[in-house]
Order: sequence, then C-alpha cells, then structure tokens
Amino acid sequence: MTRTAALLLALAAAPAAAGCSAALGGPVSVTDADTLVIGVKPDQPGLGLRTGEGRFEGFDVDVALYVAGHLGVAEEDVEFTAVTSAQREDVLRSGDVDLVFATYSITEERKSLVGFGGPYYVAHQDILVRADEEGVEGVRGLEGRTLCQGEGSNSADRVIEEKGIGAELHEEPAYGDCIAPLLDGEVDAVTTDDLILAGYLAEEPEGLRLVNAPFTDEQYGVGIAAEDVAGCEEVNRAITLMYQDGTAEELLDRWFGDTGLDLVTSVPQFVGCG
Ligand code: GLU
Repeated sequence: MTRTAALLLALAAAPAAAGCSAALGGPVSVTDADTLVIGVKPDQPGLGLRTGEGRFEGFDVDVALYVAGHLGVAEEDVEFTAVTSAQREDVLRSGDVDLVFATYSITEERKSLVGFGGPYYVAHQDILVRADEEGVEGVRGLEGRTLCQGEGSNSADRVIEEKGIGAELHEEPAYGDCIAPLLDGEVDAVTTDDLILAGYLAEEPEGLRLVNAPFTDEQYGVGIAAEDVAGCEEVNRAITLMYQDGTAEELLDRWFGDTGLDLVTSVPQFVGCG
C-alpha cells in the first residue's frame, strides 16, 4: 500500500465531524450529523431570544428543532449559539455552525457565499416609529429621516438603495440595540421585517407604533454550507412536512398569533438548492 493510499484509507475510516469539511474527503452533509450547532438570534422576541436561563426560544428556534428532528438529531443534541446579522455568512463558511435560522433573508449576494434551504416563511419589511410620530405612514415618509438597523442586515439597503429614499443610517450591533435610541428620539425609525418589529412592539406597546405598510418580501432561508446540497434538499423536505402536518400553523399561531399580522400557513415556494 502506498503512503497516499494508507492516508486515504485512514481518512475514510475517521468519523466525520458534522458540518465541517473533512480534510480531503469533500463536503460532509448535515444529513449525516449526530449533533448540530445552530445559529439563532438572541435578541428578537418571538423569533430568537435568549432567556434568563441561557436557553433560546422563538419561532426560528422551534423551526430549527423541527428540522433537526427530521435530520435525526434530537433536541438534546442541538446546541444553539447566538449570531448577529453580520456574522451569519462567516459562521457558516468557517463551519462554526451547521445551520442558521436567524431571520435570514435569501438574497443573491448571500447566495454567492452560502447555501439556503427554504424559505420556511416570507416576512415583509415594515416600519416601527415612536407612538407620537405623525409623519411616517409608509416607506416614502422615511425621506430625510434617521433609520436604525442591526449591522449586516439588508433592511436599510431596501429603503436607501432599492427605493432611492434619502435616509440617514445609524447602525447598532443588532436590532435589539435600536429600540432605546428610537424611544429616546436619537433615531426616527427602525425598519426591518414585520415579525421582528412586532416582537419589539409587544414589549413597548405604549411607546411604539408599527406603521403597517409592508413593502418587501423577505424569504427566510435556512443558512447551510454552500456545498451541502443533499442537506439543503433534506431541509426542504422537513419544511414541507412541517406545513403538511400542521406544525407550521401551530408555531405561527403560538409566536405571532397576538400580533395582528396576516400569517400565511401554506408552504412557501422554495428557491431551490445548489
Ligand atoms: N431579514 C433581514 C436580513 O436578513 C433583516 C433582519 C436581519 O438582519 O436578521 O437582513
């Protein structure tokens, strides 16, 4: 046996770590995983929120557990880790996380860096203002205003670049950090996905107002290593089942039933893997 053949045999025999590319063996799929590390948001009530006990809860967390279960990974073998908007591509590409469920809109730019299963839901960008704000009734009302967004998010681009609205941008590390500056009058609006804004509104119903003028479709994808096409396809099977067996409707009602938002309970059209 040549040294190369011996090395290849040894590599083939070594158990592959989930989600990490085996040194010479090519991509490893989440379909082979016994454990999963999943990135979620820590500061978005209703979606991904770190509780006092250090656990994570919300729609994204529950969808992640459903998909993990379909992949054969039990809840106790899922490790959730906090990710910001700006970190999502990096943690997937480094293999630090196996999957990302973090209000992660599928965009062409991001698709050039990572893979996406789903979408598992389609949210819509809207606007959150102070309750006494009278001049903002839709996206055009943001002209000349200061907007706050979490770094790495696509929301400000949707307004400033796509709609050509002359707004000023104030960035914080994450959306949760935008609420105090909004209440203090340091910024005029927080504009991002309605599901995210509804969570903050529920915490400050007296001080804040959701404009309720949705102006984009945000396809929430499951971030996955670009090369894990088999994993992506299995994720899509799980999402289909989640809608067929009533779980999606149950989760949407549990987490957003009180928001007054129109909730769509049919399976979204997938963007396709690979
Ligand atoms: N869904 C949008 C995005 O992925 C905004 C929310 C977020 O940054 O998580 O950019």
